[in-house]
Amino acid sequence: MHIGTRHIDFVGSIGLYLGVTRPSTAGQGLNSAVPVAAFASVMALRLYNTRTRRKDPFVPLTPGVVKMYVCGPTTYDFSHLGHARSYIAFDVARRYLEFLGNRVVFVQNFTDIEEVIIRRAKDAGKPPLDFAQFFIDAFLGDMRALNVQPATHYPKVTQHIPEIVALVQRLIHREYAYPIDGEVYFRTKKAKHSFGILSHRKIEDIVVDPVPPGSRREDPLDFALWKRSKEDEPAWPSPWGDGRPGWHVECNAMAYKYLGAPLDIHGGGLDLMFPHHESEAMICEGAWGAEWARTWMHNGFLTLEREKMSKSLGNFVTIREVLRDYSGEVVRLCLLKSHYRENVEYDEAGLARSQVEWTAMRAAIATARNARGSGTDGKVSGLVSRTETAFRKAMDDDLDTEGAVDALQHITEAVAALDGISADEGRAILNVYHDFGRVLGLFADLV
Ligand SMILES: [Zn+2]
Repeated sequence: MHIGTRHIDFVGSIGLYLGVTRPSTAGQGLNSAVPVAAFASVMALRLYNTRTRRKDPFVPLTPGVVKMYVCGPTTYDFSHLGHARSYIAFDVARRYLEFLGNRVVFVQNFTDIEEVIIRRAKDAGKPPLDFAQFFIDAFLGDMRALNVQPATHYPKVTQHIPEIVALVQRLIHREYAYPIDGEVYFRTKKAKHSFGILSHRKIEDIVVDPVPPGSRREDPLDFALWKRSKEDEPAWPSPWGDGRPGWHVECNAMAYKYLGAPLDIHGGGLDLMFPHHESEAMICEGAWGAEWARTWMHNGFLTLEREKMSKSLGNFVTIREVLRDYSGEVVRLCLLKSHYRENVEYDEAGLARSQVEWTAMRAAIATARNARGSGTDGKVSGLVSRTETAFRKAMDDDLDTEGAVDALQHITEAVAALDGISADEGRAILNVYHDFGRVLGLFADLV
C-alpha cells in the first residue's frame, strides 16, 4: 500500500503551509475543465474558518472543484436531531457551493468500530459489525427523509484497515509515532505546526494527568493510533499485533484516500474541533508535511434543557421521532432558521411554527403556478430581484440560512398580498422557490 506520492515540507517558522499532496489514485478526475471565469465572478462567499477565527473569502485550491470531508457518526444508536442539524448544515454548504458552479466531492465516513459499539453490541447480543451496519442503514434512511444529498463516498473504518495500517507505518517511519506493547502512539509534541491551530491553545498551557504507572507512553499528550483488542473483540492483523485503529487516524486515512490533502473544507460539530480535528491536523503534518484543511467549519450544538443533545448523555430526540409528526422539509426549515454556528435550544413549538411557515410557502408556490392575471406593474419583478439579492447576500455571509429563510418568508407574504399576478410573473416567482429551494433542500418536487 502506497500512500502519498510527494510532499512539500512546511515553509517558514511561523507554520505557513504550502504543502499539497495527492494520493496516487484519488486526485484523478478532480481537475475537470470548469472555466475559472464561470464562477470566479460569482464566488463572493465568505466562510468562518475556526483556524483563522474570522470569515475568509472561500476559494477552492482547484478552481471549480471543492474537496469536502465531514466526520460521520459512530454508529451505535439512532441519530438524533443534533446530528440532523449538523448534516443538514453541511448539506446546505455543499448545495450552495454547487449552486455557485462548483463540483463538490463530498466524503463522509462511518466509524463502525469503537469501544461503545463493542459494548452496546454485546449488551444487545449481536456481532458488533452487524450491530453497526444496522445503524448505518438507519442513518442513511434518516438522511434520505431529511433530503440530505448522498455523499460522493461513504467510507467505513472496517473497510479501510489496510490504508490505516499503512498510514500508521508511515508515521512511525517519519518518527511521528512509536509502537509499544502492541499499540502505537502519536508523538504529539513533534507536530509543532498543527498543535493548537483550532483550540488556539499553547502546548505549555495544557495541564494533563501524568502517564499512569505501568504505561510506557512517552508523554501524556500522546494518543493512540492503533489499539490492542481484547480476546473477544473484533481485531485486524497489523505489524504490531491484532487490534483496531484509534479514532483520529481513521479520518486521515479515509479522507486522504478519496480526496488527498489539503481538504478544501473539513467539517463537523464543535465538539470534534478538539481533540479530534486538531489530532487529524497533527497526523497530516506528520505523515505528509502538509496542511490538513484550508477551511475548518464547525457547527454549534443543539441543546435540550440547556445540555448538548448527545448520544452519550442520553438526552436526545431522535430524527425518526420527529419525522412521525413533521415532514423532512419542515424539520429542515426549522433547523435552518438559525445560523449553523449558533448553539440552539430544541423547542417543539419551533417545529410547529415551521409547519405553518412551510404551508404558507407552498400556498405561494400554488398561487404562482396558477397565476393567470393581467400583471402587477413590475411589482413582481422588483420583489423577485430583491429576494434574489437578499438570499445571495445572506448565503455569501458564512451561509446565513436564517437570512436566506427570511428572504423566502418575505416573498411568501408579499405574494399572498398581491392581486393579478400574470403567468410570466408566476413563473419568475416559481423560479425563486425552485432555485433557493434547491440550495436549502426544500420544495424537492419543483422541477
Ligand atoms: Zn473525523
